[in-house]
Amino acid sequence: MSAANGIRGLIARQYSAALREYLEGRGEEALRRAYEAGRRGMAGGMGVLEMTAVHRRALKRTLRNARGSARDFAILQALSCLEESLSPFEMVLRGVRESNSRLRQSLLKLKNVNVKLSAARDAVESERRRYHVLFDFAPDAYLVTSLDGVIREGNAAAAALLDCPKEALPGKSVADFISGAERAKFLDRLTEFQNGGTGRIDEWHLAIQASSRPMFPGVLTAALERDEPHEPSLRWLIRDATERKRLEQKRARSLVDHAKAQAARRFEFLARASSLLAESIDVEASLIAVARLSISYLAEWCFLSLVEGDAGPRQLEVAHADRRAFELAEQLRRFCLFRSTSLGKPADLFTAGKMIDEISPEWCAAAGENPMHAALLRHLCGRSAMIVPLRMHDRLLGLVTFVSRPGRGRYRAPELAMVEDLARRCAMAVENARLYREVIAERDKAEKASRAKDEFLAILSHELRNPLMPVVGWTRVLKNHAVIAQDPELSEGVRSMERSAQTLARLVEDCLDLACISEGRIRMERKTTDLNQIVVGCLESVREMASMKGVRIEHKIAPDPAPVEGDPVRLEQVITNLLVNGVKYTHAGGTVAVTCNGLDGQARVEVADSGIGIHPAFLGQIFEPFRRGTNSWLTHESGLGLGLAIARRIVQMHGGRIWAESKGLNCGSTFRMVLPLAKTESAAPETDRAAHASALNVKGAKVLLIEDSEDILFLVKMELEQMGHSIVTASDGVSGLRQARLHRPDVVISDIKMPGIDGYELIREIRAIPELCGVPAIALTGFGAKNDFDKAAAAGFDACISKPAEPEELSALIHTLTTQKHAIKA
Ligand code: ADP
Repeated sequence: MSAANGIRGLIARQYSAALREYLEGRGEEALRRAYEAGRRGMAGGMGVLEMTAVHRRALKRTLRNARGSARDFAILQALSCLEESLSPFEMVLRGVRESNSRLRQSLLKLKNVNVKLSAARDAVESERRRYHVLFDFAPDAYLVTSLDGVIREGNAAAAALLDCPKEALPGKSVADFISGAERAKFLDRLTEFQNGGTGRIDEWHLAIQASSRPMFPGVLTAALERDEPHEPSLRWLIRDATERKRLEQKRARSLVDHAKAQAARRFEFLARASSLLAESIDVEASLIAVARLSISYLAEWCFLSLVEGDAGPRQLEVAHADRRAFELAEQLRRFCLFRSTSLGKPADLFTAGKMIDEISPEWCAAAGENPMHAALLRHLCGRSAMIVPLRMHDRLLGLVTFVSRPGRGRYRAPELAMVEDLARRCAMAVENARLYREVIAERDKAEKASRAKDEFLAILSHELRNPLMPVVGWTRVLKNHAVIAQDPELSEGVRSMERSAQTLARLVEDCLDLACISEGRIRMERKTTDLNQIVVGCLESVREMASMKGVRIEHKIAPDPAPVEGDPVRLEQVITNLLVNGVKYTHAGGTVAVTCNGLDGQARVEVADSGIGIHPAFLGQIFEPFRRGTNSWLTHESGLGLGLAIARRIVQMHGGRIWAESKGLNCGSTFRMVLPLAKTESAAPETDRAAHASALNVKGAKVLLIEDSEDILFLVKMELEQMGHSIVTASDGVSGLRQARLHRPDVVISDIKMPGIDGYELIREIRAIPELCGVPAIALTGFGAKNDFDKAAAAGFDACISKPAEPEELSALIHTLTTQKHAIKA
C-alpha cells in the first residue's frame, strides 16, 4: 500500500467517524470535523465519487445500526448534510457556467484577434514583398550592410552602379568599392557607427571604383537601423554624382559667364562714360551726355544737379528712358531735387551714396522743392532709387539720382558701387574743369603780364638803342682820334666810356633776347659749325678782361673739330657768357679752365673756375631769368641775371643741355654744356669776320640815309663815308622820298620809327616808283624782334639791322645787296 493510499484511507476513516457522530446527533462540531476531513481528502487528490463512496459507506453503516427515530433522525441529518454538501457543488457549477460563458467570449475574441493577426501578417507579407519589389526596382542604389560595411543585401541599381551581379553582392564589403586612396578614411569613419558616435552620415562624397568602370564621384548616405532582436544594420543610398558635378560645373560656369557679362557691361558703361567726360572740355555737356547714357544702362530716370559754392543744387539734366513720360520730364525740369529739402543740407546729407528701396510719398515730400514738385515726384512712387554725391576733397560738387524702371526690383549693392564709381569720375571731371578754368585764367593773366613785360622790354630796348648808338659810335671814333690817343687821361676816359656803353648795349641785347625767347621769336641760323673754333674765338674775346682782373685762363681744345648744327653767333653768345661769368666770379689769382671736345656723338664744353662758387640752394635756380644769387655773395659785377637764362634757352634750341655744378660757396663752379655732334663733317664755315673783311674792300656806294635822330644820322654818315661810301641824308620819311627820287641812290638805309611817314610806308612808296622799285633797302631799327624783321621784309626792305649797328656790318650788307643786284641785272 502506497503512502497516498494510506492517507486517503485515514481521511476516509476520519470522515466516516465524524459523519457517524453527526448522524447520531452529536452536533455541529462533528459535522465540521467531517467537512474538514472531506476537504483534506479532496485537496489530497480524492475524487468526488471516492468521497461520495466514503460518505455512502458511513451512512449505510449508521443506518444499519440505528433503529426507529434514531434511524429517522439519522436519515434527516444525512439529507441535510447532503444538502449542505451539494450547495458548494451548486456554487461551483454556477461558477463553472459563468466561467464557461466568459471563456466562450474570450475564445470569440481570440478568434477575432487571430483573424486580425493573420490579416496583419498578410499585410506585412505583402508590404515585405512590395518593399522588395521597390527595393529591387528603385532607381537609386540601396545596400543593407552590417555595421562594418559587409553587404547583406543590395538592389538591382546597386548591382548596376557597382558593376557586380546582384547575387554576388552579399558578403562583399562596401569598402571594396571605394577608391584605394579614400578606403582607409572610409573605414575609419565607419567605426563611428560601431562606437555609437553617429546614427547617420549624409552627403558623403567618395570616389567609387567599380571593377570595370572608370572611377566616378559618388555621394553616399548611410543610416543606422536597430531592429531588435535582429543585428543592427546600415542602410546605404549610393548615387553617381558625375552628372550632378557636371551640372554644378555648368552652373558655376554659367554663373561666372553671367558675372563676366555683368562686369563687361559695367566696364563698358564706365568706359563710355569716361570717354564722354574726357572728350569735351565743356564739362556740363559731358555730364548731361553721361546722364543720358546711364538711362540706357541702369535707370529709367536720371536727375543730375551741380552744387556751386554755398548755393543749393542747380538742376542740369532730367534724363528719362520712357518716351511717354516726356511731359512729366518737362514739368520735373522746372524744379530741382533736394534744393530746399527738409531732410537737411545736401552737403551734410550726402556724404556717400544712398539707396532707397521704394520711393514713398513721404520721401517725395521731403526731397521735392515744393508741394507741386512733390506731387510730380509721386509718379515715381514704388520704384527703387540711388542718390550719389559728386564729391571732391570733402566738397559737394553735385548730385545724381537714379530711379529704376517700374517692377524691376530694388537696386543692389553692386549697382550702388558702380554709380559711386561713376560719380567719382564725374566729380573728377567737374573738378578738372574748375582747375582748368582757374589755370586758363591764371595763364591769361600771366600771358597778359608777360606781354606787357615784353612790350615794355621791347620799347625800353628800342628807346635805349637810339641814344646808345651815338655813344657807342662816338667812343669808337674818339678812341682813334689823334688828340685823344695822345692824351693818356682822355684816352682812358674814352675807353671807360666805351666799356660802359658796350655793357649797356649788352644789357639791352639781353633784354630783347629774353623777350624774343619767351615769345619764341628768337632768330636762329642753322649751319654746320665747329664748336672748337667758336670756343677759341670766345677765349680771345675774354682774354683781355681776364688779364686785367688777374685771372688765369687755361684751355684744352681737342685738335679734331667738334661740328655742331647751329647758329654760331648764338653759340658764341652762350660760351662767352660762361667765360665772362667765370672771370667775373673769380678773384684775382684764380683760374678759369676751358675744355672742348667732340666725343660719343656729343660736343662738350666745360668752363671750370676757382671762384666764389654757388650756394647749393641757388644751384637749381641759376638758369632762371633775373636770378642773381643773394647779396651775401653778389659782386658789383653781377648783371641782370639774364645771361644764363638766355644761354639755357639757346642750348635747348640746339637740342643740347647746360648745367652748373658747385660744391658750395668758395669752392669754385663748373658749367657744362653738351650739344649733339653734327652727322656730316663739313668744311669749316666761313666766319662773319671774313665776310666783314671782304666787305671792307668794296667800292663805295651811293647811300641814302634816312634817320630822324640827328646824332645817329651824323655818326653813321661819318662812319660810312670813312669806309668810302657817299652819303645823302634825310631826317624824315617825306624828305627821304624826295631825296630818293632826286638822287637815285645805290642803297637806301632807313630808320623805321619816324615822324610823318614811318620806314614801312616809306619803303612801300619807294617800291611803287618804277625807277626806284629795285633799289636795295636796309631797315636800321631799334626794334630787334623777329617779327619786326619780318614786318620790315614784308613792307619791302631787303635786310634789317638793329641799332647800335657796327659800321663794318652795315658796309658788308651794302656790299652784299649791291653785288646781288648787279648779279641779277647781268
Ligand atoms: P649775371 O651774371 O649777369 O648776373 P647770369 O645769368 O649770367 O647773370 O648769372 C646769374 C647768376 O648766377 C649770377 O648773378 C651769379 O650769382 C651766378 N653765377 C653765374 N656764373 C657763376 C660762376 N661762374 N660762379 C659763381 N656764380 C655764378
